[in-house]
Amino acid sequence: MTSLSDIRSTFLDYYARQGHAVVASSPLVPRNDPTLMFTNSGMVQFKNRFTGVESGDYQRATSSQKCVRAGGKHNDLDNVGYTARHHTFFEMLGNFSFGDYFKAEAIPFAWNLLTKDFGIDKSKLLVTVYHTDDEAYDLWKKIGVPEDRIIRIATDDNFWRMGPTGPCGPCTEIFYDHGDHIWGGPPGSPDEDGDRFIEIWNVVFMQNEQFDDGTLKPLDMQSIDTGMGLERIGALLQGGHDNYETDLFRALIEASAHATSTDPFGDQNVHHRVIADHLRSTSFLIAEGVLPSNEGRGYVLRRIMRRAMRHAHILGSKDPVMHRLVPALVQQMGAAYPELGLGQTLIEDTLLNEEVRFKTTLDRGLKLLDDALVDVPEGSDLSGDTAFKLYDTFGFPLDLTQDALREQGRGVDTDGFKAAMDAQKAKARAAWTGTGASADAAIWFDIADKQGSTEFLGYETETAQGQL
Ligand code: ATP
Ligand code: MG
Ligand code: MG
Ligand code: MG
Repeated sequence: MTSLSDIRSTFLDYYARQGHAVVASSPLVPRNDPTLMFTNSGMVQFKNRFTGVESGDYQRATSSQKCVRAGGKHNDLDNVGYTARHHTFFEMLGNFSFGDYFKAEAIPFAWNLLTKDFGIDKSKLLVTVYHTDDEAYDLWKKIGVPEDRIIRIATDDNFWRMGPTGPCGPCTEIFYDHGDHIWGGPPGSPDEDGDRFIEIWNVVFMQNEQFDDGTLKPLDMQSIDTGMGLERIGALLQGGHDNYETDLFRALIEASAHATSTDPFGDQNVHHRVIADHLRSTSFLIAEGVLPSNEGRGYVLRRIMRRAMRHAHILGSKDPVMHRLVPALVQQMGAAYPELGLGQTLIEDTLLNEEVRFKTTLDRGLKLLDDALVDVPEGSDLSGDTAFKLYDTFGFPLDLTQDALREQGRGVDTDGFKAAMDAQKAKARAAWTGTGASADAAIWFDIADKQGSTEFLGYETETAQGQL
């Protein structure tokens, strides 16, 4: 079986042979980029190359980039456990041209790798292009893709943006049809969210820059930025369709099943998937020095950790579990990412401390949730007050409560949650000023409020404010 590690090297070697510099993954915490909480794609480290702000000694690059999509414009946290193709942490294989080659080379590069080197059956592939992009359409036709397998898409799905600002452009995407035994429709159809037609590769024609005020300007250079999920191409090359059935995920799911003394398959499988996924994102973040906290990046980390811990709890684990899975992760990924081995103790300690801490309230919180639901008619939302109490007293991030309720087809009254949060802030402020203890305290609250809403402007407002 071709392992994910082999596929990673095949990809990088292929582009190296085409004159690309092999560049290491940049960190998950982007350097000097306040618009972005975590690196969400391969192009992030090259942002300034595309806009021409920086130049370099190579015009072609290839990388396998660590990505986290758990907040902001690209947020897949809620997809984990529900789709075959989404992770919070994944590796994005990419090739990049900085004003060097453009569409006419990028398309055959991708096609040849897939159909020749990887030997994928052409008749199972289909592609999308941005609706106005006749050039890309014609290139696909020329390469031999039948017209009924070239789909024009008018939505933002085929106009890629890393966030609200930055380089962007129309794109063409390659999909694989896993067959009609799996639910889902082709791209652009109402059922496109299913897992039958899986997007494997996005080839972006970087030619614009998006600004804060909404304007979109053409860039001086025409560049290429592509991204293919290693786990998705891995699933395909290993003869399956599900990322969680690749060699790497099987090993992590085995470890989770072993640590919880449960069956890796059957009904419990979904919990193992969430645990395996969240193990990767949390470990990689901790390895970079992100620690759980109540704001910003640390809070996103805490939310992911606690979510995993609730799933471990459902599997019946009485003792902390997550830290026991770290050796399996290091074994799978430590060679490609030495930071995992170097940070192993920190990762294990951080997971253990958080799980010990959360376990003290998890049981009582879940009991409160169960009790509260007795009075809520089936299909109705949980009140914002109860969700807030879970957050405030029991340390349940809002999205954890939502995740728990989703299994029962319920949601949370998020307006009510926000109102309860605002009311508590107002009360805290009044209590401080009421004591007359210090006018400074009132100023402090104002600063804290402002901090909260400005810390990760744009990209993170959603995460910092909306998804507590
Ligand atoms: P999807 O529509 O399936 O959510 P996307 O369009 O959001 O994917 P892009 O932003 O185009 O994804 O990213 C480029 C590639 O990275 C995708 O074609 C896919 O192979 C991979 N990818 C994107 N998101 C994830 C994820 N959450 N987990 C694993 N791989 C991903
Ligand atoms: Mg997506
Ligand atoms: Mg897509
Ligand atoms: Mg895409």
